[in-house]
Amino acid sequence: MDTPRDRDEHTLSNGSKEEPYLSQNDSQNEKVDGPGPSQSRGIWVFLEQTGGQVAPVSFELLGAGCRLADALGVDLAGVLLGHNIAPIASEAIVYGADIVYVIDDPILENYRTKPYMQSVVSVVRKYRPEIMLIGASTLGRDLAGAVATELRTGLTADCTGLEVDPETRLLHATRPTFGGNLMATILCPEKRPQMATVRPRVMDIPPRDPSRRGRIILEKLEVREEDIGTKLLEFISDEKIEEANLEYAEVIVSGGRGMGGPENFHLLRELAQLLGGEVGASRAPVEAGWVDVSHQVGQTGKTVRPKLYIAVGISGAIQHLVGMQSSDVIVAINKDPHAPIFNVATYGIVGDLFQIVPALVKELRERLPQQEQLQD
Ligand SMILES: Cc1cc2nc3c(=O)[nH]c(=O)nc-3n(C[C@H](O)[C@H](O)[C@H](O)COP(=O)(O)OP(=O)(O)OC[C@H]3O[C@@H](n4cnc5c(N)ncnc54)[C@H](O)[C@@H]3O)c2cc1C
Repeated sequence: MDTPRDRDEHTLSNGSKEEPYLSQNDSQNEKVDGPGPSQSRGIWVFLEQTGGQVAPVSFELLGAGCRLADALGVDLAGVLLGHNIAPIASEAIVYGADIVYVIDDPILENYRTKPYMQSVVSVVRKYRPEIMLIGASTLGRDLAGAVATELRTGLTADCTGLEVDPETRLLHATRPTFGGNLMATILCPEKRPQMATVRPRVMDIPPRDPSRRGRIILEKLEVREEDIGTKLLEFISDEKIEEANLEYAEVIVSGGRGMGGPENFHLLRELAQLLGGEVGASRAPVEAGWVDVSHQVGQTGKTVRPKLYIAVGISGAIQHLVGMQSSDVIVAINKDPHAPIFNVATYGIVGDLFQIVPALVKELRERLPQQEQLQD
């Protein structure tokens, strides 16, 4: 299985870090349940899909997994669960997987923790990967915790950087700590697989390479419906819920405490609508109940990377910056010329947002061709 991969990037990381911290689960005294480090090989990515649609974070993790696999000289594998999902397996190969383990069964058509957890655990026990990456989506967070608990291994959640040491084969999983003011690098030296979750948009999607070839290995479901204990009565898709869809928006207009109250957010909605974007927020207006939490950008909100991020009345606390500073172009509007948001802004406008935002809207209305002014 040790197949050296033909790539030249070997590690990835973003953010500074401290000395590695050993996960609590790795205490010398704890019983080793699964295979030890020397018996485990390979990097795995859980391929999340809903109704045949792959969560983009899975492709982002294939990009991250490729670089880790290159550094260790091993294969990159995907694990795919669901029903009628064959095309996704081929797509995962195009995005970098060498192998895809597939369990295709009607029982797995919709996500339920128990059958998904048991399926992942059974293939992990059979093939013994050394690292397993899962997207920190709602589904992924639930699954990762259940899998790590069952395997009695260490899981580092919400990582912003992943590196691997080819000598020790240890995953260096970096994530913010102490309210986002420090970065911690966490190791799991004794248990396998070393598990990590990464939020959507933290890593880049790798380029598609349709010439890539890989293996698809079909595995059997070892769970019976009568042993599951939960039934899906109805699936209510996200599309029917009024939630902001920020992670993959190309334009985001975000408001902070400077907006002064919920009644003023219409200014941002108007600007976002003109630019074909979404409305975001810092934590202050969310905590004040002015906007729904699905709009929050930052450490405890969403990580976003739009082409254009407009921060209106937001000071630029570190916990907000970590969620939006990878945006291509950042425009900050703030009356305080010393606000930290200006340190990351591509363009800064110092002044009263209640004058600037309406002026921008007026100007855009005049300049944008009619067909580009997107309507609701
Ligand atoms: C563990 C932890 C996690 C956190 N997670 C997040 C997170 O995910 N996301 C997040 O955003 N925060 C988060 N925070 C909170 C964060 O520390 C800040 O408190 C928050 O981001 C501040 O929001 P703000 O910039 O809107 O408000 P403020 O810091 O109060 O800034 C308001 C800004 O508006 C400007 N302003 C006021 N009136 C006007 C006007 N008329 N025109 C122009 N400018 C004006 C002011 O000059 C000021 O700069 C977290 C904190 C902790 C401890």
